[in-house]
Amino acid sequence: APPVLTDYLGAGVGGVLSVGGLGGASHRHGLVADSVLELEVVTGAGEHLVCSPERHGALFHAVLAGLGQVAVVVRATLRLYPAPALVRRHCLYYPGLDAYLADQRLLATDGRFAYLEGQARPAEDTADGWTYMVEAVAAHRGTAPPDDRTLLGDLSFTASETEDLGYAEFANRVAADEEVLSATGEWFHPHPWLNLLLPDDTAASVVTGVLTDPAFRDLRENGLVLLYPLLTRTLRAPLFRRPRGEIVHLLALLRTAAPGTADPMVAANRTAYEHARAKGAVAYPANALPMSPGDWREHYGSGWGTLAEAKGRHDPHGVLGRGHGMGW
Ligand SMILES: Cc1cc2nc3c(=O)[nH]c(=O)nc-3n(C[C@H](O)[C@H](O)[C@H](O)COP(=O)(O)OP(=O)(O)OC[C@H]3O[C@@H](n4cnc5c(N)ncnc54)[C@H](O)[C@@H]3O)c2cc1C
Repeated sequence: APPVLTDYLGAGVGGVLSVGGLGGASHRHGLVADSVLELEVVTGAGEHLVCSPERHGALFHAVLAGLGQVAVVVRATLRLYPAPALVRRHCLYYPGLDAYLADQRLLATDGRFAYLEGQARPAEDTADGWTYMVEAVAAHRGTAPPDDRTLLGDLSFTASETEDLGYAEFANRVAADEEVLSATGEWFHPHPWLNLLLPDDTAASVVTGVLTDPAFRDLRENGLVLLYPLLTRTLRAPLFRRPRGEIVHLLALLRTAAPGTADPMVAANRTAYEHARAKGAVAYPANALPMSPGDWREHYGSGWGTLAEAKGRHDPHGVLGRGHGMGW
């Protein structure tokens, strides 16, 4: 298996590499894009090239996390490792955000679990109306299960659930949701999602602000909120933008809009983005979020010049990735 998989395996490989690709193993191994050894691409100028860090290195680094601006990926070679037979999945519940974030920081930093994600879930009986769930997964072969006491003994959760699953079943777990949501039709509704990367020191205030914002109220009835930590030293693709600091947190606000109701959600995404950006957050650009050319310049920061140079060289007529509105 690749060292990092995203939660959903049905997205296009080129599309995932173009945003970077985050998943439960990212705290250990960075982006999906960080495991790429070689790419075969067709550039906007029509050249069919093989690139890697050693060969057409500038092109390689402009494709990974480059939002499809310079070339179309037609083949990718990724580093692999032997997949485990089984995984043990712990869901650990916390009634408060501060205790949750403290344990998430600890787990990300010591890397004791192979996979680490987490969620905010609506609750009736907590101070802020939400409960927080660490999703921590240990790999095992079946013969010697993980030592739960060692892995969980110093954490401060108040309730937990544990299950053993086959690795493939776990890795492909969203396929079952896709089947159900396709049957109900919801899979085909608009999904005005907002993914943000938050600096550690402002994460709690941004999360609380969004979760108590009436414009995001429907997250309680019909949404999924992911919140999990990443270590910036593992995120290596040069064009991948991240907030300052060693630890950052992915906040994914995943909503489904009934037909005709997406526009106010997109507007709310923009407002939330501006508030979060003022507190040091960066967009993880797999989003329903209008961005101006100025926003993109600010987003890429010191990487903008590199991307612009690669764009001028490999897509001089601007035929690729126009939908992002980068203003080339
Ligand atoms: C159900 C679901 C779950 C998800 N879970 C995760 C997750 O856990 N972690 C995560 O990181 N992301 C996740 N995503 C987001 C997903 O990784 C991105 O939206 C990804 O860009 C989707 O790929 P796509 O092929 O649909 O790309 P598109 O939406 O078609 O395009 C997205 C971008 O990629 C570029 N692109 C697409 N194909 C290529 C190509 N072949 N070569 C070069 N550029 C290309 C496009 O130009 C565009 O800039 C999830 C998405 C869904 C729908």
